Amino acid sequence: HTVRDLLASGRSYSFEFWAPKTEKGERNLWNALRRVEAVAPSFVSVTYGAGGSTRGGTVRATEQIAADTTLTPVAHLTAVDHSVAELRNVIGQFADVGIRNMLVVRGDPPGDPMGEWVAHPEGVHYAADLVRLVKESGDFCVGVAAFPEMHPRSTDWDTDIRHFVDKCRAGADYAITQMFFDPENYLRLRDSVEKAGCDTPILPEVMPVVGIKQLDRLPQLSNAVFPDTVKERMLAVKDDPAAVRSIGIEFATEFCARLLSEGVPGLHFITLNNSTATLEIYENLGLHQRA
Ligand code: FAD
Repeated sequence: HTVRDLLASGRSYSFEFWAPKTEKGERNLWNALRRVEAVAPSFVSVTYGAGGSTRGGTVRATEQIAADTTLTPVAHLTAVDHSVAELRNVIGQFADVGIRNMLVVRGDPPGDPMGEWVAHPEGVHYAADLVRLVKESGDFCVGVAAFPEMHPRSTDWDTDIRHFVDKCRAGADYAITQMFFDPENYLRLRDSVEKAGCDTPILPEVMPVVGIKQLDRLPQLSNAVFPDTVKERMLAVKDDPAAVRSIGIEFATEFCARLLSEGVPGLHFITLNNSTATLEIYENLGLHQRA
């Protein structure tokens, strides 16, 4: 299946994982994957390590998912630290193991994600260039990133939207957003993209926040604003992890329900390689009955 075809036939529900580096990490991933497999999602995606650190891991994980499960894998790819020749080689490796779906992002500099972006001297500068490279390299279905709160390196909304639309015109079949917590931000993005004459489907990313540590780490992961009211409710019960968790699950469930009522083309859940919270939200939404 390609994600393009899946989206043409209805809403898609997908889950995101990362390629582990240890045996324990491997076991966690496969535990989570098997539980997700039971609810028959539309696809699962595997990220490309920051700075290209798990490139081999992404090829191996997606290969194994394609070979050993009923799931459709999507491989992420970034341009960080790769020459065009290396990128072609990695794209070729994905093709060789039967991967037809890629999520193409520029990537952030290793270390400090907001540090200066320096393209590889023989590499590409923007995700749009990588989209073109992947499309030229074979019959791939390609997704790109979208930013409901604007890409953190962009200085103004209209320019960011223009760059996003250029990326779609370079051949992207669909987009997945950065995490966000206010449905209005997604709707604003969708409106601006539509106004710019672009109809590329944009899948909202759902990040379940179910613990205080996770709440504290959010600013390091993205510039997405988590609602103060929910944060305060969580902090008020911070010594009771089960209570914190249930507030987080309730909030994420309502967030998804609102997005679905606004006609989104699907939902893409971050799992952090632990599917428990995601599957609880999935079940709250009644989606497990799709299986
Ligand atoms: P681009 O589209 O290239 O945009 C980067 C910046 O350049 C933006 O400010 C844009 O407006 C600007 N720009 C674009 N074109 C031009 C132009 N022609 N001239 C001037 N400016 C321009 N990171 C990983 O390391 N591994 C992953 O697997 C991974 N997966 C992700 C999945 C999703 C769904 C998302 C949302 C992010 C993911 N990331 C991943 C993080 C991602 O790499 C960073 O958010 C990165 O900064 C996003 O780049 P992009 O692909 O949107 O880049």
